Amino acid sequence: MTVDTKKETYLNFVNGSWTASTSGEVMPSLNPANNDDIVGYVQMSTKEEIDDAATAAKEAQKSWKKLSGNDRGGFLYKAADILESRLEEIAECMTREMGKTFPEAKGETARGVAILRYYAGEGLRKEGDVIPSTDSSALMFTSRVPLGVVGVITPWNFPVAIPIWKMAPALIYGNSVVIKPAQETAVTCAKVIECFEEAGFPAGVVNMVTGSGSVIGPALTENPNVNAITFTGSNGVGKVIGQGCLARGAKYQLEMGGKNPVIVAADCDIDLAVDATISGAFRSTGQKCTATSRVIIEEAVYETFKEKLLKKTAEITVGDGLKEGIWMGPSASENQLNTVLHYIEKGKEEGATLLAGGNRLKGEGFDSGYFVEPTIFENVTSEMTIAQEEIFGPVIALIQVNNLKDALHIANDVDFGLCASIFTSNIQNMLSFIEDMEAGLIRVNSESAGVELQAPFGGMKQSSSHSREQGEAAKEFFTSIKTIFVK
Ligand code: NAD
Repeated sequence: MTVDTKKETYLNFVNGSWTASTSGEVMPSLNPANNDDIVGYVQMSTKEEIDDAATAAKEAQKSWKKLSGNDRGGFLYKAADILESRLEEIAECMTREMGKTFPEAKGETARGVAILRYYAGEGLRKEGDVIPSTDSSALMFTSRVPLGVVGVITPWNFPVAIPIWKMAPALIYGNSVVIKPAQETAVTCAKVIECFEEAGFPAGVVNMVTGSGSVIGPALTENPNVNAITFTGSNGVGKVIGQGCLARGAKYQLEMGGKNPVIVAADCDIDLAVDATISGAFRSTGQKCTATSRVIIEEAVYETFKEKLLKKTAEITVGDGLKEGIWMGPSASENQLNTVLHYIEKGKEEGATLLAGGNRLKGEGFDSGYFVEPTIFENVTSEMTIAQEEIFGPVIALIQVNNLKDALHIANDVDFGLCASIFTSNIQNMLSFIEDMEAGLIRVNSESAGVELQAPFGGMKQSSSHSREQGEAAKEFFTSIKTIFVK
């Protein structure tokens, strides 16, 4: 690859230094809204660089874990302040690198700041319990201890928030980290790591190595110095990582895909349901694990809902997310665009009716990017591919049902169980949904996407390995419990 020297080249961050890969290879990171725009070049690293990072992390963790939680929190507070001071610059980089609109990218970066502050505060919260012993002269208690080195593997769709919601709890509980970000958004991740560097974390506590997932991903998951892997990404990759970790006894956490339903009950506020469906399905170009992809509607309100949904969808402005007035950006990569177009064809082939969209956008402002129309299918049945597989794009399937019992049955009729919403004004409907819906995140009269940072986040069924991220729940994964008996 010939490097355009006018563009910045981003290095790996290992043991407190920025270093080039010995491979000598770099990859351009391209703007999906405009391929002529190279955001930067990132290292295509080798297994040896992962090994070096893991060795450095192992050594650094020995003294990092000895600091008080309060002192570790001090570094996180500093990183939060630095990230906040660079919010617009980093958000702009995110929009250029993966396409989400600038307001959304700013929101995500602000979320990263808030997560850092939340976990900084965790350094002063309780880390064990006193348990009554049957022996009255004994003291029995538990203590939380760090795991050691945590390998962090992240996707491209939340390039600031996901790395931070994994690294911040790992670090506050006394672990060191080696992050391998998605190659598509490695520049944005490098900028986040610069904030950690400037915050003064001791050398080796935070490390980043970039490169191909299939080359350095296994190098990280198989490294004997790495005690745990926290992964967010696709099911296919997650399963491989889980098996690898299980084989060598490493702890692992997998957060994977979704096929998230919204149920629209006949008694609901239709306008609210329409707005939430649009936002849940099309924001971030549908590239959220929590995105709405199936809308299951009671027949009594089907036509009204459909008409209003189509009207609002037609108002969506698609384009370069850095431009004012743009509501939906491009697909994040050519690969992603092709996947979306493949599923649209599949929907047509299997007999669903295309109601809106369905095409790649062409012409002025679109030709050098990966833009696709917001797309709606109807006459979708639960067995169709577009009702079963994660598309990860702006495509929704409308499914008409006779009653809410059928709606719930269809909502659960997938391998995934990340999140689900119902729109209804009836308390009994809400309670049945809360009880019987097989999903880790349940929302009532609210869009499927979005969870507050202090609440547990994760899925059921094939969406997750069933541990939870975020909030206090993260402590379960990033620490181990020691039970102590003193006589
Ligand atoms: P992906 O699985 O292709 O890649 C995720 C990460 O794994 C990347 O860093 C990639 O380089 C790395 N990787 C690839 N092969 C590997 C291997 N053999 N060993 C180790 N690492 C490897 O996913 P993606 O396309 O980046 O992200 C989209 C997916 O992420 C979607 O399925 C989406 O639902 C999911 N996601 C889930 C959540 C959640 O919290 N549940 C959040 C965001 C995204």
